Amino acid sequence: MKIAVFSAKRYDRDFLTAANASAGHQLCFFDTPLDRDSVALAAGYEAVCIFVNDRADAEVLTALAAGGTKLVALRCTGFNNVDMNAAADLGLKVVRVVTYSPYSVAEHAVALLQAINRKIHRAYNRTRDSNFALDGLMGIDLHGKTVAVIGTGKIGCVFAKIMLGFGCDVIGYDKYPSQAFLDLGARYAEPGEIGAKADIISLHCPLTPETHHIINADTLARAKRGALLINTSRGGLVDTEAVIEALKSGQLGGLALDVYEQEADLFFRDLSSTIITDDVFQRLLSFPNVIVTGHQAFFTEEAISTICETTINSVTQFANGQPLSDEIKAA
Ligand code: NAD
Repeated sequence: MKIAVFSAKRYDRDFLTAANASAGHQLCFFDTPLDRDSVALAAGYEAVCIFVNDRADAEVLTALAAGGTKLVALRCTGFNNVDMNAAADLGLKVVRVVTYSPYSVAEHAVALLQAINRKIHRAYNRTRDSNFALDGLMGIDLHGKTVAVIGTGKIGCVFAKIMLGFGCDVIGYDKYPSQAFLDLGARYAEPGEIGAKADIISLHCPLTPETHHIINADTLARAKRGALLINTSRGGLVDTEAVIEALKSGQLGGLALDVYEQEADLFFRDLSSTIITDDVFQRLLSFPNVIVTGHQAFFTEEAISTICETTINSVTQFANGQPLSDEIKAA
């Protein structure tokens, strides 16, 4: 099958090409993201392969279908950027990568947590400048602290297990509680308990209309003063302006983000020679107790390899008329 790969970076080319070696699909890589301006590039491609910040809204999907596309293959887990109802109306199949190394994201969340807690980003800069003073670098023991895991699915469970290993009390919140989370030795929070007790809050639920801005002025006001917030899930879970106010007042003790609501205009490219015009983002970066990584939590060899193999496998299933094991259906 002919596959148009959008937002293609060098590692996408390398790993997709390797995964495709025996499948023999025809891959065409486009650096540009998929959106209403670039969708014409996909004309004549039966499959398009997209990533987290490509825009597959109703307008783009309509253009894809008109150009002969039949399959949209997301090389990621979240699918908040695809209008699933429009896809269903147009008869487009949509697949994603349901499972790929939950360790990649959970371990990155832990790395961010400890970086912001132990001020590793500041220490790194100081010691390179021969400044070995410790003032301002004090952190907290994680042992004995309460960690709230919002979304106790695959990644949330791996994160919870690591936190239990640190000796934390791990409390969860999930719309659909699971036995797997309880079996780890964690427990689900009582109403109000997360706000009252959590020293650390880590977000691992998908972005849906229900979870949009789940962290907002109200939930931040009810959080324990000085709590640390980690978001490796989706930027839209957090109301960034409310978070900035909470950082300014000290209500939030630190913030580590791998995702940002307006990241589509920023992440996955080198903007070091340009002026960033997003004032909210720039304000965030000005805090000493904020760390931002550019949506790299998934970025391990194991994860990318599995993502690309699963994506090629889905296209092969579609080409062979087989059931699609990773199909997403409109709710
Ligand atoms: P998952 O489906 O295994 O787990 C998600 C959990 O969230 C489920 O237990 C689900 O019941 C729960 N949930 C759904 N709606 C909820 C709600 N309204 N309130 C609370 N919980 C709710 O998914 P996963 O593999 O663990 O991935 C979680 C998220 O991580 C993805 O949706 C994606 O946004 C994000 N992610 C980020 C990266 C990255 O590189 N930063 C990579 C992969 C995934």
